[in-house]
Amino acid sequence: MKLCRVGEPGAERPAVLDGDQRFDVSGFGQDYDERFFGSGGIEGLREWFRTNRANCPRVPADVRHAPALCRPSKLICIGLNYKKHAEETGAELPTEPMFFFKATTAICGAYDDLVMPRGSRKSDWEIELALVIGARATYVDQADAMNHVAGYMVHNDYSEREFQLERGGQYVKGKSADTFAPLGPVLVTRDEVADPGRLDLWLKVNGETVQESNTADMTFGVAELVSYLSQFMTLLPGDVISTGTPSGVGNGMNPKRFLKAGDVVECGITGLGISKQRVVAWERR
Ligand code: ZN
Repeated sequence: MKLCRVGEPGAERPAVLDGDQRFDVSGFGQDYDERFFGSGGIEGLREWFRTNRANCPRVPADVRHAPALCRPSKLICIGLNYKKHAEETGAELPTEPMFFFKATTAICGAYDDLVMPRGSRKSDWEIELALVIGARATYVDQADAMNHVAGYMVHNDYSEREFQLERGGQYVKGKSADTFAPLGPVLVTRDEVADPGRLDLWLKVNGETVQESNTADMTFGVAELVSYLSQFMTLLPGDVISTGTPSGVGNGMNPKRFLKAGDVVECGITGLGISKQRVVAWERR
């Protein structure tokens, strides 16, 4: 099943993408939040949709693609998980997963504008496979880890490199601006992704392919990451883990290349869809 959400910020509604049509499933009575994922919501919705599909309002194509799930308790990103990306940043390949937080207020819809933060000169892109936790995870073994995954989404882990790398402190500073985490367009449930370790992922800037890889190139795979993170914190249903980006980010180019207003960024992952953002300058609203 492909879950998505529709509507303007503050008035978002749960939906299901079936074929190329989005169906409003507000009638099911639950949005895609911690309670939904943690209480068998996916299976319940699957059953409900089977019998109620004909009565679900069809969502017009021009209605906004909201983030594919409600704001989670945590958005955790893995750093330097692709060998060639570690090389382009000049960093050592980590011997254990390296991770950092990204503010959950950065989450936005897959086609929302990317707003460069105030004063930004080094806004950059990162296509990543994101996974969603489906069951509370504390000290989970790797063999059991996949039972704690609800599904997968496309994530563009936008990053302001000056804030991230030149202003001191933690990565979170350069990762957390509003609109820096488009999630979706859909959340594809785990049963539809045969092997999350074998998915092509790509990103284009103004039509030019700059990132192109496969999740097989990740150093630490999905099960290992879920297990690893759960040794340090409890992962709650609906939490999002972004598994790291391959090489081809602007900061790794020679000369370095960063986003400017008017640029268009498109990215996608096999079976999970395509997201697309137009870059705009920050302005006081
Ligand atoms: Zn990243």
